[in-house]
Formats: sequence, C-alpha cells, structure tokens
Amino acid sequence: MWSALKTEAIILTAEPHREADTRYRALTPRHGKIEFIGRGARKGKAKLSAHLSLYAIVDLEIIRGARQMTVIGVERREAFSGLANSLEHRLLASAAGALLDKTVKPDFEDLDLYEEFLGLLRFLDAVPSLPLTRNTLLLGGFLLRLLRLLGYDLELTSCLSCKDDIVPLSFRWHDGRGGLVCTNCVLKFPQDWFASRAIEEEIVMLLRFARDAAYTDLLRPALKADHVGAFASCVHDLMRTHVPGYTESPYWHLIPAMEPRAIS
Ligand SMILES: [Zn+2]
Repeated sequence: MWSALKTEAIILTAEPHREADTRYRALTPRHGKIEFIGRGARKGKAKLSAHLSLYAIVDLEIIRGARQMTVIGVERREAFSGLANSLEHRLLASAAGALLDKTVKPDFEDLDLYEEFLGLLRFLDAVPSLPLTRNTLLLGGFLLRLLRLLGYDLELTSCLSCKDDIVPLSFRWHDGRGGLVCTNCVLKFPQDWFASRAIEEEIVMLLRFARDAAYTDLLRPALKADHVGAFASCVHDLMRTHVPGYTESPYWHLIPAMEPRAIS
C-alpha cells in the first residue's frame, strides 16, 4: 500500500463533499480508478480546482490518510480545449466517462483501458463537428471496446461452439455468450442454443465496424436508421447481461441523440 502517490490521471467526476471540499474520481494508467478529496476546492482561493477540470489530463500528487485520499498537488498537462468549447463533444465525453465510472471497479488496473478512454477524448477534442446521428454509434463503439477490455469481447467471425468460420446466412446471435453461433450447432445442440436469435448480416458488420474501426472512420459511411437502432439494442443487451453497474436505462439516453429508431 502506498501512502503517497504521483500519477497521471484523467478526471472523471467531481461532486461536492462536505462544506467546501470536492470529491473526485479519476482514471489512472497504472492504479486504476481512484477517488480522492480536494480540500477547499470549492472556495475561490483554491487553485487546485482550477487545474482539476473534467476530462483534463493532470499530474496528481495524492496522500492516503486513514479514511480517504487527499490531493496535495496538481498540474494540468493537457486541457483538451476543443472538448471544453463544444457542448455536444462534452456531452459525449461525459456519457462515456459516466459509463466508465459506473462499470469499472476501483481495483481494475489496466493501461489499455486508460489509453482507450484517452483515445476517445483525443478524437472528440480534434473532430470539428459531431453529427447528432452519430452519437449512438460512437458511444456504442466505445462500449464494445470497454466490454472487450473487461473480458467480454464479442465473437463475430467464428462460431462460439465449433469455432468454424461464420458463413453468410447461416448463423444466429447469442447475447449471453456474446457472439455468433452457426446454424449447424444450433440444430445439433438445441439445449445449449435455444436462447439464440436471428440477426441481420448488416448488424454483425456494424458491430464489428464500431468495435474495430478508428473513431474518425465511424463518421463516414451512410447508415440506415433501423440498423443503428438494432446495433444499439445489441450493445445495450450485452452491457446489461455482462457488466454490473450498467443501468437499465439504455446508454443512448445519456447523449443528445435522437432515439436510434428515429435516426435517418
Ligand atoms: Zn458451429
């Protein structure tokens, strides 16, 4: 157990604590998610709060007391001014940050998770405009990457049961097992796969694309509203099935997107 820690971090949440303090949660590259108190961070004279803005990259110095951790030093390394200046961009960052905060346990330490979230912030900081209709796909793509990092990667190319390559028109989808099963296996082992359901090939392609492509590429292709809606439902069901802490309320309710069914 360390008693003092210096670390890079991204601030995820800030909420009032007692009279003048603020409680922060932040994601770090090597110490997972940490929670700490900023003393007097809500008083004007405190210069701590000025540096502890949301979704900034900061260098923190923290000490661990008997009951909680307290920040004693902070320097801002990168402020993401593009993100700070656009409400739409900030709302998407804040939805991703809130979902990450709810679903990642404090003792989960993973450099890849840190870099994944940082990658999303860098994309949002740099992209000039963000069509509302793409929010659902972008945040869904982030959640598929989060699922993978939490150990629930989707199987989208070979059968979950026999491992053979999936071929067109002969597969079904299984939420609980997270991927595709070939029709042969469904017929051969009906007791294992009764909960599988039909899924369109386009939705499989969209799941693969949203998980694997660069965020900038997710802005490009024309998409059908129905497909984005079905994609979003898949992501929501996967999160609900596998990730404790994820809410019953679908993830797209956190962002200023039209309901997926209404996207054109
Ligand atoms: Zn199979």
